[in-house]
Amino acid sequence: MQVHTVSSEKMRLVVLGSGESGVGAALLAKQKGYSVFVSDGGMIKNSYKQELIDAAIAFEEGKHTESEILNADLVVKSPGIPEKNAIVTLLRQKGIPIISEIELAYRYKGNSKIIAITGSNGKSTTTSLIYHICKSAGLDCALVGNIGYSFAKQVAECPKEWYVAEVSSFQLDDIQDFRPDVALLLNITEDHLDRYNYQFQNYINSKFKIIQNQTAEDYFIYNYDDETIQKHLQTLSILHTNPLPFSMKQELKKGAYIKGDNVILRAPEERVSMSIYDFAIKGKHNQANTMAAGIAASVIGIRKEKIRESVSTFASLEHRSEYVATVRGVEFINDSKATNVNSTWYALESLNKPTILILGGVDKGNDYEMLDDLVRNKVKAIVCLGIDNSKIINAFAGKVATIVETTSAKECVEIAFKLATKGDAVLLSPACASFDLFKNFEERGTQFKQAVKEL
Ligand code: ADP
Repeated sequence: MQVHTVSSEKMRLVVLGSGESGVGAALLAKQKGYSVFVSDGGMIKNSYKQELIDAAIAFEEGKHTESEILNADLVVKSPGIPEKNAIVTLLRQKGIPIISEIELAYRYKGNSKIIAITGSNGKSTTTSLIYHICKSAGLDCALVGNIGYSFAKQVAECPKEWYVAEVSSFQLDDIQDFRPDVALLLNITEDHLDRYNYQFQNYINSKFKIIQNQTAEDYFIYNYDDETIQKHLQTLSILHTNPLPFSMKQELKKGAYIKGDNVILRAPEERVSMSIYDFAIKGKHNQANTMAAGIAASVIGIRKEKIRESVSTFASLEHRSEYVATVRGVEFINDSKATNVNSTWYALESLNKPTILILGGVDKGNDYEMLDDLVRNKVKAIVCLGIDNSKIINAFAGKVATIVETTSAKECVEIAFKLATKGDAVLLSPACASFDLFKNFEERGTQFKQAVKEL
């Protein structure tokens, strides 16, 4: 372990966790003159270790040394570290302030502006779409946050006028002053409850922190159709920001809604109409994501022609309802990122063909009932891809003609292909996490695509 000699007047900042956001926070803090120490209870990836060494930042791995941590003036906690972690408990007991990486980045962003996107599903898609619109419109902007590149590192190494940031509830948990100029809340469904004492309300509160510091100069774009969001909004006595709702179901005076085959944007004054057939990303969920992104682009002054053009040229993200190939008339779709039932519902809903549905993996407490109607109407067969498939089999027995179990992407693609006939779709949208058989959802999706190529 390396340890700094710390000059007495320097503020000591300790970063807990050394992944993308932890290393980004350490680099920014070091640049701003803090004495920085990074502590990771697990092993640090070599590339991140090298970044710390290159910046002469002291770190430890495989442990949290109390004497190095409890003398901090300020702690940045990585999003992956739960509140019940022993060292976090000690820091709380001592009253040492703990912030998240987005809070640190916020403090040093200067006059730059932030569009921050949160929600249970659709964050990465919507964040990337907004970034695509901003970039196409010529804005000096960066794509940061949960999506893979640390906000703090971007601020330290290549500051921009605009940050389009995907923010998770874990990042929001430890903000203080973080105030996005434009905040988006796409939806709230039960997720990550293990981190919130199994209280859905705690998770809701965390998501709503995205507007806690907003003012009359800011905008809050939210899903009008989401009952959880609506219910929580009713409990807030005053909203300090400018609400701009979007709805798939009803006309609104401001925000966005669907009328026939068009999305109407009313944000703030201008009225923009866009045909849903021109959207590059398909499905109801993506219409909602595109509406939300359209409002964001509109309120920051991007011209309507540019918005229209950009939503038609945005390439969908890998592993999210991604078209793979059509083999002898059978269309293969990779939606490996669908790790909960809600996202599978939307993927299935957007298909208009008889479907072979691939489900399975590590179930995070799924209730499959919400898929019943869609499965009865659209699904010819379910192919399970997982180690323990009993819950899926019990949930769908009698509702679908065929249920088969498989344990590899290759086997599952071959069987699905055998069960399909020309004009069908094979949809990998597992509703479960992947780590029983794969490293992550990316590996699951990549192996699926490879197996399709080999047919
Ligand atoms: P996140 O970053 O929030 O996990 P992604 O954009 O990566 O969201 O999408 C995750 C999964 O959810 C994908 O399977 C995608 O097809 C589905 N999805 C995307 N947008 C929505 C939405 N608005 N509502 C429900 N599901 C969605």
